Amino acid sequence: MANMPPKLSDSQRLAASDKAVQSRRERADVKERLKSGSLGIFDVINDPRESIQRMRVRELLDAAPGVGVRRAFSIMSRANISKTRRIGGLGINQLQNLRNEMLLNKVAITRGALIVMSGPGGVGKSTITSFLREHPSLWVSLSATTREPRENEKDGRDYLFITDEKFDQMIAGEEFLEWAEFAGARYGTPKRAVEQARELGRHVLLEIEIAGARQIRKSDPAALLVFISPPSWEQLVERLTARGTDSAERRAARLALAEEEMACSGEFDEVLINHRVEEVASALLSLATSRAK
Ligand code: 5GP
Repeated sequence: MANMPPKLSDSQRLAASDKAVQSRRERADVKERLKSGSLGIFDVINDPRESIQRMRVRELLDAAPGVGVRRAFSIMSRANISKTRRIGGLGINQLQNLRNEMLLNKVAITRGALIVMSGPGGVGKSTITSFLREHPSLWVSLSATTREPRENEKDGRDYLFITDEKFDQMIAGEEFLEWAEFAGARYGTPKRAVEQARELGRHVLLEIEIAGARQIRKSDPAALLVFISPPSWEQLVERLTARGTDSAERRAARLALAEEEMACSGEFDEVLINHRVEEVASALLSLATSRAK
């Protein structure tokens, strides 16, 4: 009896069948869009909906122009992907193999967009990044820094906390996409991880200060630069001066810096006002999606 399906009430059965119909519809829609070329293979792979993540890789490839039923199996076997594998179960090596196979077969694949987010201290950038960190189609880059971890900060989650020597080595090895000094410490974006995520179609978000944003503007003119602005200057002052532990000089320095940072908003492609974290996060996601096409 242990393997019998659970007994469902009528309403549970109805809900389950509604969900199944909805999933089939979502999958059919995605396959249609793949066929017409309005979606690429990696757009589908990065689609977080459960119905899509549960779709078989074979179905995805069958529907992709330039692949089709005939080539799907040979591509999967060369990419080391079993016939029954679902999209959500693909590992990083398999994704990379799949990307290489697509390139060999001259199937167009979309690279993820690069989104740079800057703004004055105290505007809530790190709350926005934490909010977006869980999102499957966007990868939040992990910076390296020479500053000391704050309480509650974890190495490998908030930053890679590294020594000055290691930072020097990384500069010498050209391992940074950009780096800058800020408030007595150095911060940099490791290049390889950003490249890897973008190649697999994921959008990448950098949360960096303005000098770094300027470097990205130069090295990658297609990157989208977004400035996060407070609802009002008064609200920013309130947030910046709220830390009771700061000395008067420290508070004044933080305000002066914020004023300088606010004056740079005109250099950015978009300015988003941080009324609510959820709103800013969803605006960033739609900007990324429209940029990647
Ligand atoms: P905090 O020390 O408060 O975490 O960050 C200080 C500033 O450094 C913030 O404005 C943050 O956006 C910026 N920052 C963090 N990581 C990087 C990075 O990799 N490159 C640059 N240029 N700035 C960064």
